[in-house]
Amino acid sequence: MSKVLIIGAGGVGGVVVHKVAQYKDVFTDILLASRTLERCKKIQAQVKDLRKRDIAIARVDADNVKDTVALIKDFKPKLVINVALPYQDLHIMDACLETGVDYLDTANYEPPDVAKFEYKWQWAYQDRYKKAGLMALLGSGFDPGVTNVFSAYAQKELFDEITSIDILDCNGGSHGKAFATNFNPEINLREITQRGKYWENGAWKDTDPLSVTMDFDFPGVGVRKAYLLYHEELESLVENIRGLKRIRFWMTFGEQYLTHLRVLENIGMTRIDPVDFEGHKIVPIKFLKALLPDPSSLAEGYTGKTSIGCLVEGTKAGKPRKVFIYNVCDHAECWKEVRAQAVSYTTGVPAVVGAMMMLTGKWRGEGVFNMEQLDPKPFLDALGSAGLPWQVAEH
Ligand code: NDP
Repeated sequence: MSKVLIIGAGGVGGVVVHKVAQYKDVFTDILLASRTLERCKKIQAQVKDLRKRDIAIARVDADNVKDTVALIKDFKPKLVINVALPYQDLHIMDACLETGVDYLDTANYEPPDVAKFEYKWQWAYQDRYKKAGLMALLGSGFDPGVTNVFSAYAQKELFDEITSIDILDCNGGSHGKAFATNFNPEINLREITQRGKYWENGAWKDTDPLSVTMDFDFPGVGVRKAYLLYHEELESLVENIRGLKRIRFWMTFGEQYLTHLRVLENIGMTRIDPVDFEGHKIVPIKFLKALLPDPSSLAEGYTGKTSIGCLVEGTKAGKPRKVFIYNVCDHAECWKEVRAQAVSYTTGVPAVVGAMMMLTGKWRGEGVFNMEQLDPKPFLDALGSAGLPWQVAEH
């Protein structure tokens, strides 16, 4: 039915390609384009081997709008799925506007020289997308993404009033490496080393990085210590969930991970500003990325599960209610199915479900949308069969 262009051949891009290849009647033609053609070739061969489908590949620097425009004009997709890095978001949105094609991503734009997660740059495209009759779907991964849809579902189906949401993200798996990140190291480390922030009683509150913790019993994993972080979906959920008094985001980390992180921070290896090195300028975090394992290389032999969800509190029919809406995903099962680990899988599958919603007209609109602004039902109906079954547990 539709041609799709996927930009970014990393851990998440691989999952997206495998998954769109499974839905032949929705995605009739697939083009994977990325900065390094070798990585596209690897995914192309895997998809041929495991799914018996041919996909086209191309090299593109998505920071170059002209190149992306030329690629889009040549392939004529109905939708561009951006699973490159957040730095490319605005450039790819510009290319989509110029060519009249819908857009989807999984992470909000970040300027390369400041670790700042804000929707303001992408929300600024609202009028231009509306005017062009195009749709841009922002943050269609797990968190952001499925967590936004869980929150919308809680609002629509489970509660009369929601007072608080705690988004809880646990990776209870083990990749056997001393230190590695499960998605792009640069983006991941920028996210967790910034100051914490949450929203309460109408105001944002700041915390020192990783200074607030709570223990939580994660289904499928067990009790783990979770650390309060700022995460981008908080910004849009505050706008779109009515009556909310507090919203926070939590992520678990093991002691070994945190010890490595502290050392790297203390010696300046997570800095994002350029430093002089033997007559060259280098950005320490970019150099660190070159040394750390590639997230997609962690997949083989990864054991354990991820457990991610929304703990929602409020009232229903005059009585207090508290539920955890969640998914548990097994790393080894993801490897078997699409040669990926669960962090890439839980991001790539919702991107494909979001794309199906757009291409089948179940989610349609003109302008820029966060996930909770659309009807949660068709998305959640499709999510389980796409590989991410979800549950609601009363607390
Ligand atoms: P990777 O680093 O594994 O992959 C990123 C890919 O994008 C690489 O293949 C890279 O190319 C390519 N790329 C980078 N710059 C450009 C460019 N200028 N032009 C074209 N291609 C480019 O990252 P992940 O797959 O782990 O993550 C992908 C995205 O998913 C990120 O934006 C991340 O923030 C997001 N994410 C979202 C989550 C969610 O739940 N919402 C969770 C996890 C990730 P090269 O191979 O040359 O480096």
